Amino acid sequence: MYPVMLDVRGRSCLVVGGGGVALRKVQGLVEEGARVTVLAPALVEPLEVMAARGEILVERRSYAGDARSAWALVFAATDDRAVNAQVFAEAEAAGVWCNVADDPEYCSFHLPARVRRGPLQLALGSAGGAPFAMARLRRLLERRFGEEWAEWLDAAARFRRAVHAAPRTPAEENALFDRFFAATVDGERLSARVPTAAEEAEWLATAVDHLAVEPPPAVTAGGEPSRGVAPALGRVSLVGAGPGCPGLLTVRGRQRLAEADAVVFDRLAAAALPCDLPAAVELHAVGKVAGTHPMPQEEINALLVRLAREGKRVVRLKGGDPYVFGRGGEEAEVLAAEGIPYEVVSGVTAGVAALAWAGIPATHRREAVRLTLLTAHEAVKSDGPQVRWDLLARDEHATLVGYMGVTALPAVVERLLEAGMAPETPAAMVEQGTTARQRRVVSTLAGLQEAVAAAGLGPPALFAIGPTVRHAERLDWYAALPLAGERLLMASSSARLVPALEAAGADVVLLPLPVTPAARVVMAALPLTGCVVRDRAEVDWLDRERDSPGWSDGLTAWCLGRDAAARARERGWAPVVELPEGPDHAELVARIAAARTPR
Ligand code: SAH
Repeated sequence: MYPVMLDVRGRSCLVVGGGGVALRKVQGLVEEGARVTVLAPALVEPLEVMAARGEILVERRSYAGDARSAWALVFAATDDRAVNAQVFAEAEAAGVWCNVADDPEYCSFHLPARVRRGPLQLALGSAGGAPFAMARLRRLLERRFGEEWAEWLDAAARFRRAVHAAPRTPAEENALFDRFFAATVDGERLSARVPTAAEEAEWLATAVDHLAVEPPPAVTAGGEPSRGVAPALGRVSLVGAGPGCPGLLTVRGRQRLAEADAVVFDRLAAAALPCDLPAAVELHAVGKVAGTHPMPQEEINALLVRLAREGKRVVRLKGGDPYVFGRGGEEAEVLAAEGIPYEVVSGVTAGVAALAWAGIPATHRREAVRLTLLTAHEAVKSDGPQVRWDLLARDEHATLVGYMGVTALPAVVERLLEAGMAPETPAAMVEQGTTARQRRVVSTLAGLQEAVAAAGLGPPALFAIGPTVRHAERLDWYAALPLAGERLLMASSSARLVPALEAAGADVVLLPLPVTPAARVVMAALPLTGCVVRDRAEVDWLDRERDSPGWSDGLTAWCLGRDAAARARERGWAPVVELPEGPDHAELVARIAAARTPR
């Protein structure tokens, strides 16, 4: 196989077939500027949209000997192997390169799996032998190559032009390129950086004999890297983990975690840790765990500084958004003062998301035009109020969200009522929002405290007071999902079931093999309600985790097939529910929903 990257801009390409597979080929080609003709009697909706927008040409009919030499490339992606074979044969006869989806026998070229960072493309090929392996390898590399590589390549291209702008010998040019590469690429971590303009200018001005590449100098005691060297000083990313649901961690947050050498996390952030974090990543739990005290803030600050000084890439993972009542600002102050590079990766704050999952829009046209996030603790502090309860009480068209609101609730209600807020103002409390343990009570300002006590809600929880709370019953979408409240453990070998289960509202903990320390932290973050197993091997394997925290007796074992169920019973699991193993995941969801004990 001979790899090339084709410039398809303005070239005519034929795609035979109008389904999902064809769509992916068409999108890839259109993205690169090809003139694509789709030949098929019927098109899936996104292709229709592209056609309507004039992005592609369409021939609405069956294939009839169209693979001729007029095309630069021909793709066949019909579900009829005979048609695909015919397309290939005719393209071959016409001397046109042809690719039949998923059929290496009928391909004169293969499409690589790609990792893309701007103009940088890594193409992975298996000569058509194992596209699945390439897809997985691609995912692995996706995690290793950060977004910075795009900018780095732009910088490299700029540097190349600058090098060529002056007369130089090939040896001089090479020396400059070596210098650029050595200074900007950390080969071990596969990370890169853009050099400063001053650095580039300096390299370009350096006389040839000084250009020999030096080994990267060590980090100085003050943590300052010597000039012109790949980054050896670590950095800290203050990452918001979101409110609890792992899916609400941002893409960038996930990326920083994948690149991290050390993760310092709070209890509220534990559920968002990726289970597949390699075991080599240092994990530091600094939040309050049942029975123990949280690490004092000063110690957390010192830990962050130490890890960064050791040259590590540190993720400080905090619940919700790092700068919303999370003391993230204080940590950033310390890092700034110590000269440690840091960044903030914002997160979804609980005050907005937990409300949404409880059916409460944070704002609503005409009803609430202001959103106040406050820490309810201020209500119980003795050293004079920082919150103007009098003003809040008078603002009818606003939503008031109180963090750390459980113990402070009586004081808050008292302040607001004293200041004249209507006792019948709608009010709600949401506990563990966006997680499988989410509970809420909906009441009024005057009635909330009693309702919260009756339901036994506890931290972490926040309250919302304001007119939009009125929508809570009608917009209770999360609780209405068939598997809301389920937190299911599964072996990574069953990963293909995950999308259907998650779409139905379940929180899925996908356990990698071997089980990572991170996965154990995630398991323990919230109680599990069940596990889904497909065969004996999965049962045996999960059985080894039975003593892990989070796993309690009475977990329902959802067993797909008789074999798995028999093994689970042998192992003493109970209750065991046997379900038919089938390709229909919607059916699986329906059966679990029908058999489960609603929470
Ligand atoms: N930085 C976080 C807030 C940290 S303060 C954020 O942006 O969300 C901790 C408080 O946040 C808790 O006492 C609780 O009031 C609230 N909180 C955090 N996660 C929550 C959740 N899943 N459901 C309800 N409240 C939550």
